[in-house]
Amino acid sequence: RLTSHAGTAPWHPHIDSGDDAPWDEWFRAASAVALLAVVWERQGPPGAVCAARGCARVLIPYGAGPPRRYCSRRCATRERVAAHRARTAGDVSPSA
Ligand SMILES: [Zn+2]
Repeated sequence: RLTSHAGTAPWHPHIDSGDDAPWDEWFRAASAVALLAVVWERQGPPGAVCAARGCARVLIPYGAGPPRRYCSRRCATRERVAAHRARTAGDVSPSA
């Protein structure tokens, strides 16, 4: 809705139902609009699911540097170790 608060302020948008609307209504509406803006801007969901096998935690992939793929350093290390072991599993040292 657009309001000027009975002429006491310039016209501006409000996303609650009225000036006396309860705070929780405003909070839900403002959160929904914020989520809308993030999805619109990024053209996708604002989060991601951890890329580690067996982990379903969600994370915020954005920040400084490249996008994050893992929820924690622990998951990243576990995946790196698993990938290393998979690469070296076929390597068998020649026996004498
Ligand atoms: Zn994880």
